[in-house]
Amino acid sequence: MKRVTILGATGSIGRSTLDIIALHPDLYTLYALTANDNHRKMQELCRRFEPAFVVMRDADSAERLAEAIADLSTEVLAGEAGLAQVAEADEVDVVVAAIVGAVGLIPTLAAVRAGKRILLANKEALVMAGALFMNEVKQYGAELLPVDSEHNAIFQCLPAGSIGKDLAQQGVRKIILTGSGGPFRDFDIADLGDVTPQQACAHPNWDMGPKISVDSATMMNKGLEMIEACWMFAVDHEDIEILLHRQSIVHSMVAYTDGSVIAQMGNPDMRTPIANVLAWPERIESGVEPLNLLQVSQLDFTLADEARYPCLALAREAWCQGGTSMAILNAGNEVAVEYFLNRRIKFTDISRLISKVMQQTTTGAADSLESILRADFDARGLAHDLAESIGG
Ligand code: NAD
Ligand code: MG
Repeated sequence: MKRVTILGATGSIGRSTLDIIALHPDLYTLYALTANDNHRKMQELCRRFEPAFVVMRDADSAERLAEAIADLSTEVLAGEAGLAQVAEADEVDVVVAAIVGAVGLIPTLAAVRAGKRILLANKEALVMAGALFMNEVKQYGAELLPVDSEHNAIFQCLPAGSIGKDLAQQGVRKIILTGSGGPFRDFDIADLGDVTPQQACAHPNWDMGPKISVDSATMMNKGLEMIEACWMFAVDHEDIEILLHRQSIVHSMVAYTDGSVIAQMGNPDMRTPIANVLAWPERIESGVEPLNLLQVSQLDFTLADEARYPCLALAREAWCQGGTSMAILNAGNEVAVEYFLNRRIKFTDISRLISKVMQQTTTGAADSLESILRADFDARGLAHDLAESIGG
């Protein structure tokens, strides 16, 4: 029986994880569920799963939830301290890091420092603090396993135990990261200024939270994933090729020196990578429909056009600059996406705003948590000011 904490249980990844856990009551038990402020949804989850603990980051929501579930044995905690507590508790074996954005960094690091098995969906944490994060994984003997479908695919295509090892020595020539190109892949570039948040969130293949949906539309998601892969698999950006693959069936590939290319395929459903890392090295039922290749019939691969997706170049630039650049990139993106979702700036302003934030900040060393959080805080402040001046 593995005891699981889900950080970000009310989100899209949280829901998919709970669906799998519900299929295997003999294998997994829920220690804790966490969320930001959606106490109604959390109440439903508590009634269905009755975890030992639940954490609401927002204190008022925690109070409301505690009143609503007073009849259950679940204990309600609040705030960041509560998040860290359920991530590092001795009783926990597996922590699913599924909070969206930089706010997921501290609770995820708490799980790392407690040496847990971490199922990482929260890519922003690794993007902004990659070097420190990977060092701590090693130092504290944590087990980092990728949920992000591309990284999970790469993980499955590599020899076992490759995370943190030199891939060139294992005969790897390059990593091929695939992406669908998002909902605007066939739009006229001239029309992108007028697209709405609703259109941006209607992904052709995946059903995801709003922030990552917009990231997929700008392809900043692929940029963040390129950085995520560099940190996780200890490679440079030149070792990674990005290909557009509209069917989202091949989730990524690894090319070897002997000419072999190993791909991982499956329907675009996050329950597959989540089940893979929950059970690893075993395999369990995920509830995902078997892949019907006859129905898919065709797999296309093309290059990503950087004029359509300027965020790809920004992510590459941040990786090449190193230090706190990636925290700055990420913070600028989070603020820009929030303003776009609130209809305060245009879709095409997202990359412009991030670019300005990067130009107007100085990169420092990302050698401590404090320096990373400071860079994140300052870049957010600047991004807000710039967004206000664009949004009017
Ligand atoms: P979501 O918006 O659906 O859910 C986010 C979760 O984080 C919610 O439970 C919410 O309560 C919690 N949260 C938000 N703000 C918080 C705060 N300030 N403090 C504490 N908790 C907070 O997002 P999602 O689509 O499930 O994505 C979660 C993470 O997984 C993201 O980093 C995303 O990039 C990554 N990811 C998602 C998918 C997907 O298919 N959805 C695929 C790959 C990677
Ligand atoms: Mg992904």
